[in-house]
Amino acid sequence: MSLTIKLFSVPRNGHRIFRCTPPRRYEASCAKGQYINVSPPDPSMNMGDITERAAQTIFWTELARGFAVTLGNLFKEPATINYPFEKGPLSPRFRGEHALRRYPSGEERCIACKLCEAICPAQAITIEAESREDGSRRTTRYDIDMTKCIYCGFCQEACPVDAIVEGPNFEFSTETHEELLYNKEKLLNNGDKWESEIASNIYADHLYR
Ligand code: SF4
Ligand code: SF4
Repeated sequence: MSLTIKLFSVPRNGHRIFRCTPPRRYEASCAKGQYINVSPPDPSMNMGDITERAAQTIFWTELARGFAVTLGNLFKEPATINYPFEKGPLSPRFRGEHALRRYPSGEERCIACKLCEAICPAQAITIEAESREDGSRRTTRYDIDMTKCIYCGFCQEACPVDAIVEGPNFEFSTETHEELLYNKEKLLNNGDKWESEIASNIYADHLYR
């Protein structure tokens, strides 16, 4: 059962007072004629409290307490980090800049199956491929338009050989659009540069994939 409670402000003795309507619907908490006072209570007038308030006013004790809080925080460990000189931890599942990986022999992993291209919801990946003399398929073109990419990670999930991955690098802002049109050379260079981090992230997450 829904209960609608209307409150309206009634100035009274300088205090903000809310009157509950309609009173019949919730007599237990707010009977007709009763008011809820939401202002702070009047200050206590006993001698101890009056003396304390006078001392606060005369000796600026709030100021001293404020300085004490400031001084105490000077010696606490800061809640922020000094980026870019310090960096926070990243999850192994962090989806950053793309990279194409190689095998330890130097051979590129990608077998040009085009699953990543097919699954990409942003249609950011463009692949062209041909067969080599030894019968293996390899890409002749592997482009990612990073300005289309939505970093969903589907390409990485679809890849059967862990060739295309989203690495830990998140610092790849550029000044021009063209710089974010990655080709195969750029992606392979990323893979070479970040291979140790990418490999350890994949290993850390391998039980869950
Ligand atoms: S992360 Fe998603 S949007 Fe970006 S290239 Fe991969 S599949 Fe496409
Ligand atoms: S990166 Fe992976 S999914 Fe994409 S074409 Fe190459 S092997 Fe296939």
